Amino acid sequence: MKETLRYAVLLCALLGPAMACAQQPSSLPALKQEAVTEVDSLQTFTQQMIDQIFSFSELGFQEFETSRYLTGILEKNGFQVERGVAGIPTAWVATYGSGNPVIAYITDIDCIPRASQKPGVAYHDPLVEGAPGHGEGHNSGMAVNVTAALVLKKLMNEHHIAGAIKIFPGVAEELLGTKAFYVRAGLFKDVDLVLGSHVWSEFSTAYGTGNGEWSGLVSVEYFFHGKAAHAAARPWEGRSALDAVELMDTGWDFRREHLRPVQRSHRVIINGGDQPNVVPSEAAVWYYFRELDYPHIRELYELGNTMADSAAKMTGTTVDRRLVGSAWPIFFNKVIAEAQQKNIESVGMPKWSEADQTLAKALQKEIGAKVEGLKEKVEPLSDPVKNPTGGGSDDVGDIAWNVPMVYLLYPANIPNLPGHSWPNAVAMATPIAHKGSTAGAKVQAMTALDFLLQPQLVQQAWDYFRNVQTKDIHYESFLAPEDKPAIEMNKEKMDKFVPQLKKFYYDPARYKTYLEQLGVPYPTVKTQP
Ligand SMILES: [Zn+2]
Repeated sequence: MKETLRYAVLLCALLGPAMACAQQPSSLPALKQEAVTEVDSLQTFTQQMIDQIFSFSELGFQEFETSRYLTGILEKNGFQVERGVAGIPTAWVATYGSGNPVIAYITDIDCIPRASQKPGVAYHDPLVEGAPGHGEGHNSGMAVNVTAALVLKKLMNEHHIAGAIKIFPGVAEELLGTKAFYVRAGLFKDVDLVLGSHVWSEFSTAYGTGNGEWSGLVSVEYFFHGKAAHAAARPWEGRSALDAVELMDTGWDFRREHLRPVQRSHRVIINGGDQPNVVPSEAAVWYYFRELDYPHIRELYELGNTMADSAAKMTGTTVDRRLVGSAWPIFFNKVIAEAQQKNIESVGMPKWSEADQTLAKALQKEIGAKVEGLKEKVEPLSDPVKNPTGGGSDDVGDIAWNVPMVYLLYPANIPNLPGHSWPNAVAMATPIAHKGSTAGAKVQAMTALDFLLQPQLVQQAWDYFRNVQTKDIHYESFLAPEDKPAIEMNKEKMDKFVPQLKKFYYDPARYKTYLEQLGVPYPTVKTQP
């Protein structure tokens, strides 16, 4: 925590009303109400951001249009933008103000391979066949955070509220590829708290390990090098790199039985050779090794390396590897989560229209999921589960072990979807995403006000961070000093698809919504559910 802030808190505590403490908590409810009204007045702006980023559909590390668009908006609104931070061309940080506390917003901006989908259509109907698409809903997060930040900026100016706002993009979150590098570059050194936001079908927040369905991970590519030969005429002269990949995979699958049940590991073969009559001299496999805590993740990583080395030995090949990404398991701050929960409850769920529910139910039916439409109720804040089971990962984990942080899950998508695929893109440029993101922006602004106006809360968040969260566990990066962000990843894929995707970029000057531009009736469903 910043010394100046601690000093201010101390002075306020000592002198109480005798001293003119810069901010009066008594005005907090009125300010929050003002924030809600301001966010409502920005609904068109929020909707346009969601639709615009949806139409860019950029994969991790290639979010060039998205970042250009966002930094443009932020600069126009008086934010200072530093580009290319942490050695990542599409990463940046936008700052407004210079006082304390410093509150940072973060949310992801990248999309999913092969998830291209027309919004508002309750069956598979890609915009561009095989192209990437926002089948995770990351197109909505910046609309939430930037809307909140602009409202906050206005309130800070009008009411002389001290503090600073920072905005970070979650670049290449799907590759778990940047946050550990952000931390290594010291981007959070002067930050007091981080308010992340992530699309979900619920309106909720969490602290600690939350529902326990989170893992940390390392993501590693193994490159095997063999010797080419005619696969029929002189196979004895060759050494197959593909054999090594297959043996590594087989070895891993046998060993899997003897790993802790909470581990998750999966792979794709990224290079399987060129053609059958050439012994593959090059082959590569890419693994995600997930576990619940740092020591176990390290153990899996080392076991993976042992498997790779052994497969190389068996096949007379060599192997080298590259760490592509890493993530600490998430752990969120109780003090911030409790404050945020009150704001979630006061904002409440968006009012869904019949059309919204029809789309949701038709999609759920189409994919064979439980048909229950959109959520109507806010989730209560629950205690973290006692025995985490593990699950997905998010590289904000690395941030959350360096600064008090929470994730706001805002209700901008349909429940019961598979994730990381086209169904998750269906609602993401429709009124469902627009309304859910407006609700999220209100909570993001209100929660920041809680901490800007009550310095003792910032202190309490740090007390929890220091005395509970990091009492026995200390952050240690998975990155070796020589590890670099995998910034060339997805370039080929985007080079291939950008010319086709460009034809579908949203033009808000001509069309009120992206649905209107695409001529998609809302909702478009096969049969009424
Ligand atoms: Zn995500």
